[in-house]
Amino acid sequence: QADIAMYWAKQNGRDNAQMFAEEMACAVTRQFAYEQEIGQGLKQGQFYLVYQPKVFQSPDQITGLEALIRWQHPERGLIPPGDFIPVAEESSVIIPVSEWVIDQALKQLAQWQQAGLDIVPVAINLSGRHLISDALLPYVAEKLKHYQIAGELLEFEITEGVLLQDIHRCIEVMTALKAMNIRISVDDFGTGYSSLSYLKRLPLDILKIDQSFVEECDTYSEDYKICETIIHLATNLDLVTVAEGVETAGQADTLTSLGCQLFQGYHFYKPVSPDKVESLLQQNKLDRACLPQKIQGFQ
Ligand code: C2E
Ligand code: MG
Ligand code: MG
Ligand code: MG
Repeated sequence: QADIAMYWAKQNGRDNAQMFAEEMACAVTRQFAYEQEIGQGLKQGQFYLVYQPKVFQSPDQITGLEALIRWQHPERGLIPPGDFIPVAEESSVIIPVSEWVIDQALKQLAQWQQAGLDIVPVAINLSGRHLISDALLPYVAEKLKHYQIAGELLEFEITEGVLLQDIHRCIEVMTALKAMNIRISVDDFGTGYSSLSYLKRLPLDILKIDQSFVEECDTYSEDYKICETIIHLATNLDLVTVAEGVETAGQADTLTSLGCQLFQGYHFYKPVSPDKVESLLQQNKLDRACLPQKIQGFQ
């Protein structure tokens, strides 16, 4: 906001300070109204989760699910997370949203488990603010206990930016999550302002190659080389690689030849409803013994 103020001052001179103040007040009001609406939406049950399968080699080998939040707004219709998660992250409303996601996903896992399904781990996207907050660890421990779900069945996806904000706190929290057998992956790998040093300092399990590199990995040599290098790096560090946003067989084949282990994307599955997950799990033919050892240990 200070940057915007500087820009404004430069562009418009001091006479416009009044206008700028009004503009800012408006933006703050809008942000506040949106935050309120998110909180309200939570109370009124306007959010729901869809699940995108992650696969090993073929669609009938589902190794995990990523929970993705959706907002069915009463007037504005379906709002994608890219619209409201960044707003929620600006304030503390991200914590109740994020806690709702954790609760909902674990409740769902418990239901599937009680229905006798051979369940797979669910990955939840975690905002930096929630990761470093004091609220996360007790909440997760309590919910795992409440729903009687093993920590191995939970994974948190964290983007690189978060890891650089407060590395010491991240190490502390992640170490505690690992003690609960929860898996940790780096989401959108390669797009943040990454410093590779965090890879050796944090107890990570999985690197998710960002879809921007996957998109042209089979046609554009720079992206091919980037994918090759990320997979090399991950393999050397004993991390499992997941390619995100795989849309074609060509991309999947290229990534397989480079040693990528798991896949996620429209070529295999779009995010689906819980009902659909149920039928997919019923038909799942995953042989867990074939998986990289690091992610074998669930059940
Ligand atoms: P992400 O975690 O990187 O999730 C991947 C996004 O790519 C999802 O979009 C997914 O639907 C989309 N996607 C998957 N496969 C393909 C593909 O083959 N092609 C293309 N073009 N897209 C694909 P979505 O659901 O709109 O989520 C966007 C982002 O919003 C997520 O990126 C994540 O950062 C955030 N998000 C979603 N749900 C949550 C949540 O519960 N909590 C938090 N904190 N963030 C969330
Ligand atoms: Mg993700
Ligand atoms: Mg991602
Ligand atoms: Mg992404």
